[in-house]
Amino acid sequence: MRKQLTSRILYPLHEAAKGQGTIAAYRAMMERESWPASRLRAFEFENLKRAFAHAYDNSPFYRRRFDAAGVKARDLHSPADLLKFPCTSKTDMRESRDEMLASRTGLIPAATGGSTGDPTMFYSDRNIAANGWAACWRARSWWGLEFGDPWFWVWAAPIDISMESPLKYRLKRMRDGLLNRQVLSAFTMSQEAMARYAEKLSRSKNAYLYGYSSSLHVLAEYVLARQIDLSHAGLKVAITTSDMLYPFMRDTLAKAFHSGVSTEYGSREGSFIAHQCPAGGLHVHSDRVWVEVLCGDRPAEPGEPGEIVLTVMDAVAQPLLRYRTGDIASWASGNCACGRPFACLASIEGRSDDLLIARGPRFVHSQSIIYFLRSTANVERFRILQDDFDRLRIQVVLARPDARIPVDNIQKSVSDVFGYPVTITLEPVSELLPSPSGKHRSVISALGRAYFSQTVSR
Ligand SMILES: [Zn+2]
Repeated sequence: MRKQLTSRILYPLHEAAKGQGTIAAYRAMMERESWPASRLRAFEFENLKRAFAHAYDNSPFYRRRFDAAGVKARDLHSPADLLKFPCTSKTDMRESRDEMLASRTGLIPAATGGSTGDPTMFYSDRNIAANGWAACWRARSWWGLEFGDPWFWVWAAPIDISMESPLKYRLKRMRDGLLNRQVLSAFTMSQEAMARYAEKLSRSKNAYLYGYSSSLHVLAEYVLARQIDLSHAGLKVAITTSDMLYPFMRDTLAKAFHSGVSTEYGSREGSFIAHQCPAGGLHVHSDRVWVEVLCGDRPAEPGEPGEIVLTVMDAVAQPLLRYRTGDIASWASGNCACGRPFACLASIEGRSDDLLIARGPRFVHSQSIIYFLRSTANVERFRILQDDFDRLRIQVVLARPDARIPVDNIQKSVSDVFGYPVTITLEPVSELLPSPSGKHRSVISALGRAYFSQTVSR
């Protein structure tokens, strides 16, 4: 009854009140799932051409950039032609935001994510929001979820408390109630708070979880450590987003929540970009975003890591064409067993802030270092901080204050991964605080952002 109320009435009313055509976009997107791949590819390319023509005709920035490169939007005859068009970067967005606009109506001011660098302001619009949410709900349907299903949202909620008026905060919580979701603050993950969260989960029925990968992992570890049995709760899936979900984290989530685990890839600029289906495929919502994976300036082969370059085809106000995201991924080879016609990424290898950067510069998979630290005795929790190519600081929560850590072994292991000597400084701390956005990240590299903005984007 409650589910029907939210699904049939409250959610459609909520979207209509915002002026977002989410429900209509959702229906169209669901239909495209059953299209043959050839029909979908043709639809996507028409969408791409329309996005380029819209930008060239209406945005002074894109007209200037295309003219300087000697290309016109109408020169786009096949996907291979995309390489003739210049890429855009976060710097472009920062320096030419107003010139990028293709329309001055319906602007939604927004800022890029990222917890280490300064956010960059840009404009989103209702069309992006409607199509983005429609794509998100399509992906949730793959897990048997509907608009009205109850869900737990593990998010940076306390920022709301401190930054908003009590009235606005209460209205937001009322909206959460209407939409059948409960917010569990990712910012307050003390033992007491997690005891409350676990209690809520155990009393739930057929809900699902959605939140930062790192925060869900912290909660899952708590559930397992306290031997809290959630098998009866019937949690349908834990959908992780925003920061890296390493395989060991996926295992912990599945064990603690007795549910499937899905990962999501998106960004503030592009909204929801890709979602993982129950068969494991990380499907790109290619009817709304055009994803390229580039090695330097050439398309990467399947399985070859490269940078995700994004075109948001449903952007109306501020077009975003061939936008260098700084995120590393590779294309999957072959089709997903589920049969959906959307192409799959093999995985997201890292976000610019999660990647360690070695001299070269080249990016280093932090996973092997994370595994090594996880298996090191007396290391309870840790965070790797990189300020330079040959120095890492590792903040460590020790099992006991007097515990000894084999720093030489860690140094050797890290140096092996980097391919040259790296100095390690261990910094014992009593706890690891989340970032201002509420994420509990294992790796924060000051070089990642600089590497992508200065080296790759050039
Ligand atoms: Zn699939």
